[in-house]
Amino acid sequence: MELIDTHCHLTFKPLDSDIAAVLERSRAAGVTSWITVGTSLHDSQRTIEFAGRFDNMYATVGVHPHDAKDVTADMLAQLNQLAQNLNVVAIGETGLDFHYNFSKQPDQLRVFAAQLNLAQELNLPVVVHSRNAFDETMDILDRHGSAQKRVVFHCFSGSPEQAKQVLERGYYISFTGVVTFKNAEQTRRAAKLVPLDRLMIETDCPYMSPEPMRKQKVNEPALMVHTAKFLAELKGMDLIDFAAAVTATSTAFFALPSPRN
Ligand SMILES: [Zn+2]
Repeated sequence: MELIDTHCHLTFKPLDSDIAAVLERSRAAGVTSWITVGTSLHDSQRTIEFAGRFDNMYATVGVHPHDAKDVTADMLAQLNQLAQNLNVVAIGETGLDFHYNFSKQPDQLRVFAAQLNLAQELNLPVVVHSRNAFDETMDILDRHGSAQKRVVFHCFSGSPEQAKQVLERGYYISFTGVVTFKNAEQTRRAAKLVPLDRLMIETDCPYMSPEPMRKQKVNEPALMVHTAKFLAELKGMDLIDFAAAVTATSTAFFALPSPRN
């Protein structure tokens, strides 16, 4: 089994300082490639640095909606520069978070739109964070992302209706350990609808440990196997077949090269 953790934050504490052991446990569990996701300009410099240090690790560069308030034109130009690095496979995470509203909504909209334009200019896929802002996210994607079908809704926890809308646009849906949580019935119903050629999996570690490891406060890529097993069962598939399918989807979506052993 060669799974890809398509959304992890290996630059975050406490994973960063223990990275060799984290990757060793991950490989042993069958999670053999990683996309470590940038959340700010500074963090995006680090994701690139990490991806340069380890085989089968790739970076994304982006500014999380929480940090949108501080983003200047000069910072967007720097992000453009970073995005040219060969280990960068996507723009993000970017999007809208109207749950926390750590940044004002006009700032979130401005910085999301700028990153969608950047992705289009560089022909890179987009990793979207959307919380309590589904309609606004779809609207801005409709306006900026029409030519851009490589869009993934990460950590999807929406309804089956919302999943349908995402799929109708040609976009992708990625599930974290949230799908294993007791109270996530609507997310499970949504997951049943998503065909394997549009479905990806991720940890979003160090957050979101899946059941039955939810008590392990620090999530890590090795634990993604529990999410994979859970979804394989939900789909009535063998784990090996499920893993092969989602790995193929993720490899194509991010245009990853063949893994190095
Ligand atoms: Zn994330």
